[in-house]
Amino acid sequence: MSAVLSTPPSAPATSPAGVLHEVFGYAAFRGAQQEIVDHVVAGGDALVLMPTGGGKSLCYQVPAIVRHRAGQGVAVVVSPLIALMHDQVGALDELGVPAAFLNSSLDGDEARRVERDMLSGKLTLVYAAPERILTPRFMAMLASLHERGQLSLFAIDEAHCVSQWGHDFREEYLGLSALHETFPGVPRLALTATADDHTRADIVQRLQLEQARLFVASFDRPNIRYTIVEKDEPRKQLLRFIRDEHEGEAGIVYCQSRKRVEETAAWLDAEGITALPYHAGLDADVRRRHQDRFLREDAVVMVATIAFGMGIDKPDVRFVAHLDLPKNIESYYQETGRAGRDGLPADAWMTYGLADVVNQRRMIDDSDAGDEFKRLQRGKLDALLALCEAYDCRRVRLLGYFGQPYRDHNDNDGTAEAAQAEAAGADDMPGASGRALRCFNCDNCLHAPATWDATEAARKALSCIYRFRQAGGQRYGAGHLIDVLRGKVTDKVTERGHQSLSTFGIGADVSDAQWRLVLRQLIALGHVHAEGEFNTLALSDSAREVLRGEVPVRLRVPAETKPRGKAGRERGPRGSAGKPPPMPLNAAATERFAALKAWRAEVASEHNLPAYIVFHDATLAEMAREQPDSLEALGRISGVGAKKLEAYGAEILRVLKD
Ligand code: ADP
Ligand code: ZN
Repeated sequence: MSAVLSTPPSAPATSPAGVLHEVFGYAAFRGAQQEIVDHVVAGGDALVLMPTGGGKSLCYQVPAIVRHRAGQGVAVVVSPLIALMHDQVGALDELGVPAAFLNSSLDGDEARRVERDMLSGKLTLVYAAPERILTPRFMAMLASLHERGQLSLFAIDEAHCVSQWGHDFREEYLGLSALHETFPGVPRLALTATADDHTRADIVQRLQLEQARLFVASFDRPNIRYTIVEKDEPRKQLLRFIRDEHEGEAGIVYCQSRKRVEETAAWLDAEGITALPYHAGLDADVRRRHQDRFLREDAVVMVATIAFGMGIDKPDVRFVAHLDLPKNIESYYQETGRAGRDGLPADAWMTYGLADVVNQRRMIDDSDAGDEFKRLQRGKLDALLALCEAYDCRRVRLLGYFGQPYRDHNDNDGTAEAAQAEAAGADDMPGASGRALRCFNCDNCLHAPATWDATEAARKALSCIYRFRQAGGQRYGAGHLIDVLRGKVTDKVTERGHQSLSTFGIGADVSDAQWRLVLRQLIALGHVHAEGEFNTLALSDSAREVLRGEVPVRLRVPAETKPRGKAGRERGPRGSAGKPPPMPLNAAATERFAALKAWRAEVASEHNLPAYIVFHDATLAEMAREQPDSLEALGRISGVGAKKLEAYGAEILRVLKD
């Protein structure tokens, strides 16, 4: 008790930096946050593109608090998901910020109480779904607030939902331009983690944000390690990956079909890993229960279709694994982005094989979309395939796709790591200035894959496809093509007279398996495309240059897919070169950390909130390491704001002492 009295009472902060410190317990804004906050506090509109985990919430929460404290009323946050609103309001509650949500989970009385509090100026933020906001009742409340100058701002979260182009289109979002038309002058902030130009243009146009200032954060997620491996018994590969790297940690495994989700979850479970299925075909109840366990327990692996993900704020997801190829790079980036929101090391891991290429193409071909749309989808798939086949830095490619040059935050040059990679023979990767950019946190940067000059093999395959055309205008699939190249006399070969082609048998020195790889990579690189029901092969325009020998083709040698075992287990130099450091805790600190976690679990269950909303792992770890012995010292730990210090400070000090 005496300790509590020793913190001097002070007036609530009114500046953005003061609020950040007092309410959130953070020392400094990150990246563009400061600029965004200042802009909105001053009454400007903004469109914020920031990757998952970048800290978007603070961009409207801090202005909402500052403006509320300045007598400018309540902020209205548009949010698409009930679960998301619940967690956000829970987190604000823990921080001592008056906030509430209005959605269908409230009964009439509860909703009316929130409405009253909103109108009376008690609340700093109100979260609501778009369909609720656009009701006459809600609009009337907004009008009343607006008349009295008590509408501080509109924040439109997950703003990409307004675009049909994206993956989470929500029709109700289209109506949100009404906010601007009815209440001009109220600052508006649209936020999304979806980066592509098309979606961005949709957001600007549909929400009438032409005058808004655009803030584009770097989309790099330096703490995520990207790895893409050759598919070979994918489930076993997955199990090995989890056991080797993420035993006892939370993760998400994405599969394409419901069936595969169920099978994979059951298999992992039988192997002793707590895994739960999640897909749209499951009962709403089951889905809710599984999601709850994933959020609240420490080490649950969620095996899911893409139905799972939006609004999953869990900061300590340590890996996202793909057993099937996503649709495009946008999806890949979005899905992998759910790993490591807390900034600590996390993995994005994927298995990939020829069947994936074929399946994804088939799905595009078979959909009833228009030709133009299909063409765009194919182009996007091609870009993803190129990423899979790449033997240079995945991160550089990923960012390049979003039009962002990779900035070397880590100032790697000249470090021991750079020298090591050089020595490992990683210097034959293409780069603008001869020196390829590398991130040192993707598979290709950490272990440069062996490559081989496949120019000749590629030319042979391409010219064989060309000969087919000449010899009768027909197209054939990979199987027949390989037979001809290898000089096999099959019925089909005889029937079509293909043993008389000049390309018959010119590739006998290359095995079937190798040819398959060459073809897959030619498809992935876009020189060949597979068409129609039988995936017959046709040349793309770019094939001509390869045929003429103008474009060398260098392919990666498939990675060793045999079990690595413990001895073969290699960890890259994580935690160095500016990467977020792992949290090395000595034995005593580890014990304190465990005690703090147990205490947190109790509080979380009492408050019916996920544990991370009480405190993040990183915050508890810092407490365990630093062992603060006074409230003042505890308050200096990142993530401990005034309210939490008051509510939990004494107890934490007790736990630490014990
Ligand atoms: P997003 O919505 O962009 O995915 P969040 O708003 O959930 O990201 O923020 C991700 C995490 O980073 C949260 O746990 C948040 O508390 C933390 N965070 C955000 N800004 C800061 C900051 N300036 N300093 C420290 N931590 C921050
Ligand atoms: Zn890299």
